[in-house]
Amino acid sequence: MATTLPALEDALWFDLSADQKAILGPLKDFLRSEVAPGARERDETGVFPMALVKQLGELGVMGMQVPEAYGGAELDTATMALIIEEIAAVDGSLCLTVASHNSLCTGHIVLAGNEAQKRAYLPALATAEKLGAWGLTEPGSGSDAAGMRTRAEDRGDHFVISGSKIFITQGTVGGTYVILARTDDPRPGKSAADGISAFVVPGDAPGLVRGKPEEKLGLHASDTTPLTFEDLVVPAENLLGVRGEAFRDVMAVLDGGRIGIGAMGIGLGRAALEIAAKYALEREQFGRPIAHNQGVSFKIAEMATELEAARLLVLKAAALKDAGRPFTMAAAQAKLKGSVAGVRACDHAIQILGGYGYIREYEVERLWRDARLTRIGEGTDEIQHLIIAREYLRRFR
Ligand SMILES: Cc1cc2nc3c(=O)[nH]c(=O)nc-3n(C[C@H](O)[C@H](O)[C@H](O)COP(=O)(O)OP(=O)(O)OC[C@H]3O[C@@H](n4cnc5c(N)ncnc54)[C@H](O)[C@@H]3O)c2cc1C
Repeated sequence: MATTLPALEDALWFDLSADQKAILGPLKDFLRSEVAPGARERDETGVFPMALVKQLGELGVMGMQVPEAYGGAELDTATMALIIEEIAAVDGSLCLTVASHNSLCTGHIVLAGNEAQKRAYLPALATAEKLGAWGLTEPGSGSDAAGMRTRAEDRGDHFVISGSKIFITQGTVGGTYVILARTDDPRPGKSAADGISAFVVPGDAPGLVRGKPEEKLGLHASDTTPLTFEDLVVPAENLLGVRGEAFRDVMAVLDGGRIGIGAMGIGLGRAALEIAAKYALEREQFGRPIAHNQGVSFKIAEMATELEAARLLVLKAAALKDAGRPFTMAAAQAKLKGSVAGVRACDHAIQILGGYGYIREYEVERLWRDARLTRIGEGTDEIQHLIIAREYLRRFR
């Protein structure tokens, strides 16, 4: 079965604007002609598609929310979410590369960088001349990210970073890294998040040691690598944001990133839905298409409805972010719904395809494997529940 490219417009209830068409049109052509044909092979080889990523830079997709003054496309968040959904529907690995590069490393510099840092790092990130990696998670601290042990010691005109990070997307192929490290102990009365700082680290900095890329369940052509910092020297001017207060920026970066991960789940689920729908109409058992059985068609109904509901949440969170209004809860809801609906759609698709669903050629197993990450990365389902409950209950306190 050939890789499908479901139409985004079919899934939307509004017409794309002229600006959205201007970026999505060439992107879709590129996805159809250059990305789709090799997606399965890349899943098998795990080779990072550097040439494709560079071409995405030319299409304006690697600096989606970078201001035009620094060479970016300065897109609104809804357009970014639609682009991420579209890429996910074709190649989950490439989608994670794009989503993480834009939202995490690049997004952090856009959010917290000073003028000199923005001029120094954003143009190369926006064109994909350099890929961005963002190091928060450590072997001993994931959901409880403030429990990090990596330290940056102040030596006057520079800091010396020692410690390690794990599961870093673009960890091997990155050219610019944003690394979180503790510079100070928490001040009395403050939470464990106090005292954490962010640094921009060039990929060729001595002491930045890349480990062996991880072997993963899915997203094989996305690079996930542990990092070790062996007395990594970083000039003081590379401190990103306010010393000791980076965790607030981390939370804001993750809020934005979660909109993208929700969109990624929807894109993967949408591809699975389309494959399952076509299959259910073609496959005959007991003398009629299997789609004629409610046990099958109701799954299609559920997939279509849940994905649609998730897209509404993604676009709501995007609208709130662009309006400058609080969007933490909406982003957590969008991420939770998008990822759960995406994984469930992929699982239903495997079921609808029966034995064929379990066979690589039919693609839905790859979609499921790729989608599964969306329930873990940038905060697990459980952490999204914690955030949603905290934000909701806040109204009554
Ligand atoms: C492919 C991939 C790419 C990634 N890319 C990056 C990256 O680029 N940069 C980066 O910094 N990190 C990255 N991560 C890390 C990712 O964000 C973490 O794996 C994730 O936040 C979960 O942390 P953990 O793996 O340590 O799990 P843990 O925090 O140990 O959680 C284990 C389980 O316990 C649950 N749990 C933990 N605390 C609670 C609680 N209070 N209440 C209820 N349940 C709880 C979790 O939900 C989970 O089910 C990546 C991970 C993967 C797999």
